[in-house]
Amino acid sequence: MDFNDSPEEGAYRAKARAWLQANAPKGARAATGAIADPDDMAAAKAWQRRKAEAGYACITWPKEWGGGGGAAWESMIFGQEEARVETPGNPFQIGLGMCVPTIMTAGNEADKARFVGPAARGEEIWCQLFSEPAGGSDVAAARTRAVRDGDDWVINGQKVWTSGAHYSDYGLLLARTDPDVPKHKGLTMFWIDMRAPGVEVRPIHQMSGASNFNEVYFTDLRIKDSQRVGAVGDGWRVSLVTLMNERLAIGGGPGGGHRTMLKLAQDIATLAGPAAKDAGLREKIADWFVQAEGLKYTRYRTQTALSRGQTPGPESSIGKVVSASLMQDMANAALELEDQYGIISDPAHAPLAGAFQTALMNAPGMRIAGGTDEILRNIIAERVLGMPPDVRVDKTVPFKDVPTGR
Ligand SMILES: Cc1cc2nc3c(=O)[nH]c(=O)nc-3n(C[C@H](O)[C@H](O)[C@H](O)COP(=O)(O)OP(=O)(O)OC[C@H]3O[C@@H](n4cnc5c(N)ncnc54)[C@H](O)[C@@H]3O)c2cc1C
Repeated sequence: MDFNDSPEEGAYRAKARAWLQANAPKGARAATGAIADPDDMAAAKAWQRRKAEAGYACITWPKEWGGGGGAAWESMIFGQEEARVETPGNPFQIGLGMCVPTIMTAGNEADKARFVGPAARGEEIWCQLFSEPAGGSDVAAARTRAVRDGDDWVINGQKVWTSGAHYSDYGLLLARTDPDVPKHKGLTMFWIDMRAPGVEVRPIHQMSGASNFNEVYFTDLRIKDSQRVGAVGDGWRVSLVTLMNERLAIGGGPGGGHRTMLKLAQDIATLAGPAAKDAGLREKIADWFVQAEGLKYTRYRTQTALSRGQTPGPESSIGKVVSASLMQDMANAALELEDQYGIISDPAHAPLAGAFQTALMNAPGMRIAGGTDEILRNIIAERVLGMPPDVRVDKTVPFKDVPTGR
């Protein structure tokens, strides 16, 4: 592991920092990924376009496809620098982090030419249509059916938890095309137009008051065979491209908050003086600092692997499993410290503009999205520690014979 920038990395960082200082929109709302307001969406699209024009959007993608033609370490350094400034929300994360890279890897040439540039410039937004009511962790258990009809496919079924479906232009859809073979073998990937007849998006209301994700229903949705991404029956392999990109995109986790927590403990007065003097709380804060440092060095491992042109390993799973529960622990403690003010979530009135209230409400979702804690622990156990694999009894059974409990 190398903690220091090489001269080349340092020069790139300085250039990126200067560009961000000159170009990042002043007074932008913090990038939470949640976009509810048309003005926020316009600001997010404008910021993405400005980055694309400067070669800072999709840094590793080829220039002819709207990317920056740069290296993975450049992308990582730019991401670190961008996180230091306030930028608009980011509705592009799923498209640029997962769906479009899948099109680039497994899609046909016409689709690459059609979709990659507009996505990189923030003109079109994508969502990921994988999870279903009967299968989230077990993506291969997808039940949404795609049935061949001449040159078309007819889609029926339901997806759930689809982030951003309500403002997405296109979706990457995993569907079952052959129920007679084992579950991993009967899947096929497609892209769909989210506004086509036969697609119904129903927002899910969250406890935070926001509606970031949705149920998506398909009723006789008719699509062309040219919308297939990869071969018929190869959907599982194609979905692994998406999921690998997903772990990489969210694996680092935010990892922040511990310094804000310390500041909060210093500022809040108790009868015995500042809360930060309390021995029990000091012990917790010390523990959060240790975890945050561990996360930082785990991220350095990823950065070192990228700098050497290697593919990062399962450490991104470690990053997410630690950062999501860290965020939840700190938010719980912060709200306790804030006492009666802890129940105020309106940023205009809440302490620290409601940062910990928002964190508390987002943390459970973070522990589930992109692989639950248990699934990530399975990955760490099997791929990092070399422990025996989970029991998978339905792996060789034709999908139609897998008991459903109905
Ligand atoms: C904020 C958020 C955004 C999301 N966005 C999207 C999106 O854009 N697109 C999309 O397709 N999906 C999305 N999801 C869905 C997400 O991928 C699934 O919720 C997740 O994979 C878990 O699946 P599930 O909810 O069906 O839970 P299940 O898979 O039913 O799991 C239920 C419980 O059983 C445990 N469990 C399951 N299998 C095992 C096992 N083998 N060993 C041990 N424990 C196990 C799980 O850990 C969990 O505690 C999102 C979810 C959230 C919270």
